[in-house]
Amino acid sequence: MSEPLPTTATVGVVGAGTMGSGIAWVAAAAGHRVLLHDVRDGAVAAARDEIGSRLQRSVDKGRMTAEERSAILGRIEHAPALAGFADAALVIEAVAELLDVKRLLFAELDGIVGDQAILATNTSSLSVTAVAGGLRLPGRVVGMHFFNPAPVMPLVEIVMGAASDPVVVERVFATAAAWDKTPVRCTSTPGFIVNRVARPFYSEALRILSEGTADAATIDAIVTGAGGFRMGPFALMDLVGLDVNLAVTRSVYEQTLDPRFAPNVKQQALVDAGYLGRKSGRGWFDYGADNAPPAPFPPAPAPEGCVVGEAPQYDGLAARLEHAGVSVERGGYGIATDRAWLYRTDGRPASVLNQGLTGLPVILFDLVGDWATASCIAIAAPRSIDDDVIAHAAGLFQAAGIDAFRVADIPGLVLARIIAQLISVAADAATERVATPDDIDTAMRLGTNYPAGPFEWAERMTTEGVISVLGWLHDWYEEDRYRTAAGLKRSRHEELPLREVYG
Ligand code: NAD
Repeated sequence: MSEPLPTTATVGVVGAGTMGSGIAWVAAAAGHRVLLHDVRDGAVAAARDEIGSRLQRSVDKGRMTAEERSAILGRIEHAPALAGFADAALVIEAVAELLDVKRLLFAELDGIVGDQAILATNTSSLSVTAVAGGLRLPGRVVGMHFFNPAPVMPLVEIVMGAASDPVVVERVFATAAAWDKTPVRCTSTPGFIVNRVARPFYSEALRILSEGTADAATIDAIVTGAGGFRMGPFALMDLVGLDVNLAVTRSVYEQTLDPRFAPNVKQQALVDAGYLGRKSGRGWFDYGADNAPPAPFPPAPAPEGCVVGEAPQYDGLAARLEHAGVSVERGGYGIATDRAWLYRTDGRPASVLNQGLTGLPVILFDLVGDWATASCIAIAAPRSIDDDVIAHAAGLFQAAGIDAFRVADIPGLVLARIIAQLISVAADAATERVATPDDIDTAMRLGTNYPAGPFEWAERMTTEGVISVLGWLHDWYEEDRYRTAAGLKRSRHEELPLREVYG
């Protein structure tokens, strides 16, 4: 275990904007003397004022004393010139996201700080290897990717460039941990962990929308209500800004040319029109109007009894049905009633499953994160099935307090399709040694607030389940976008959980 920088070490922060001021606050709160520099007149004073008033709120709420507040503020000093950084042990830059600007800055710092000093970049999309390129001591450069707002978000991606010295990486890792953050290690690849692995959350939802499988409000309702995500992809794009989200997508796509990251034309059109999300009043949703709420199935009668699959994952559903007075037996797969067989999607469309596999009509239901707490679910059926049979299936879920949304009969419905792609991208990131599965899960839980990391989802869906959904998507669309990640194949052949194939 490497030792963190002692709190007696001076930390330099370049750039006093959104991220730099947050990072300065974090380092000062950890006890360091912080030197803050910005080329813009008044930027440092404005940052200190902002930090001061936010700290005051903590004082007002009794979370810190006035003395602690002034001690933190007192440790943040204005450095009018970079020359003031001569005795800094660590300099973190959070300036404009332009390679030339960052390279120029680091070249200058290289000649100012001591040879033992560490230089860190908070870049979110540039290559750490490229930022360090051409420096006298490129081994001292690492990525320290904080998330916004830096004082609140626990995750820091510690990014290793090709030349980064492992000793420096470990020192920065230990320092971030000492600053009360949760660091994860990753290599310098496009999007690092979070901005890469999160892409299918948006891109797959956008495909589902573009194909008319469900509208944005319904997709968001399913992802939150069935998947346990705090926000749906469309509400989240509106919050982040469609333009910001598209720029990240574009950056990752242009650097990888992976079709899973391809930008979506609908999103591009909204950005071109100035519909950027909350900040412009309109994005996927219109913030000045009453948006139509998603429309679940109208109330339908509950069946008197059913047979619920014996797998433990259905315990929560069985308990909820029993609580509602439905008589429940356990056995087999999916859910059987006297009128229909409800089958959890394995990628096969309901139209395929209804071709004589059983005497009863087959209705598909989507992946659910946790049956004990789910508030809604997607279901699908071919047009040939009578509406009253579909209502019967909806009535069963409604009895358990779960709204049912009927979506088009496509492979993987909504949640299983999005999650399978998240797992696929995460599996490839682990194959490319971007990060370990554990660090990928941690990063996605903390960096994006996902209820579970992709490898945890893979355990819930099983390797076979994920391969099956991807296989059917691949078969359906004949697109490389839905290829089966190599890690999933290894997991199947070695009969190991996906998380364990990367040792
Ligand atoms: P920002 O525009 O709020 O702040 C950038 C600051 O840097 C400005 O005050 C600007 O005057 C200053 N600056 C620009 N060039 C400079 C130079 N050569 N020397 C000194 N100061 C200079 O930007 P931000 O959102 O804080 O982003 C900063 C960096 O952090 C970028 O690399 C960005 O990609 C990254 N980042 C941003 C976020 C985010 O959500 N905003 C999250 C993670 C990482």
